[in-house]
Amino acid sequence: MRRPLVAGNWKMYGNSASVKALLTSLKDLVWQPQVDIAVFPPTLFLIEAVQALKETPILTGAQNCAIEPDEMALTGEVSASQLVDVGCQFVLVGHSERRLLLGDTEAILIKKFQAAQSKGLKPILCLGETKEQREKNQTFTIIRDQLNSIIDSLGIDVFTNAVIAYEPVWAIGTGLTATPEQAQEVHCFIRALIAEKKEAIAQNIQILYGGSVKENNADALFTMPDIDGGLIGGASLNADEFGAIYRIA
Ligand code: PGA
Repeated sequence: MRRPLVAGNWKMYGNSASVKALLTSLKDLVWQPQVDIAVFPPTLFLIEAVQALKETPILTGAQNCAIEPDEMALTGEVSASQLVDVGCQFVLVGHSERRLLLGDTEAILIKKFQAAQSKGLKPILCLGETKEQREKNQTFTIIRDQLNSIIDSLGIDVFTNAVIAYEPVWAIGTGLTATPEQAQEVHCFIRALIAEKKEAIAQNIQILYGGSVKENNADALFTMPDIDGGLIGGASLNADEFGAIYRIA
């Protein structure tokens, strides 16, 4: 049985005061022993988050890491070893905002994924098609290409210690959620692609859905057989709503 994971991606939101308030509220969430939970604050607030949440079951992850795992001359970047050093357990790799707005190509994502794992950070690999690609019936081709880009370079075994998040770009921050059936169809496809290589990895890997998950749609999504929780953006900035989604999982 796979454990659900509820992950909160705070993106570039927040300031000292709002982050402090959010962390204080998160400390009061009632622990759900059968569900994993993690938050992904902006890099600046990672240390504060790890400290604030250390007595809770809430794990901490980064939204990005450098292509090189160790310290070196790479202005503006943060390495996987630095993230581990301050207490992070996860890192997002390939979020569509990074792919589409910040120049993260497949070649870069392969390096980031590898850098993360080499230091013991668990990558959450984000995959997803744009609205245009869905309308052209390219969803499955895009998902397969994005997944194969990692598998072809690093092998299937890297997915023993990784999470996948299916995030249709048209559903992110738009209020348009994929229907549970649309999401399940893609999740099932992703699991089948992995199963073609290694059945046991396919059965064990957590595949999260992301894209306008809210308290009122989480239940229908999370009851789908191949949806193992969510990567939550906007709704994770509100501790009550994030807590509600966590309980639903
Ligand atoms: P959203 O973002 O929940 O605000 O749509 C999800 C994400 O980008 O991870």
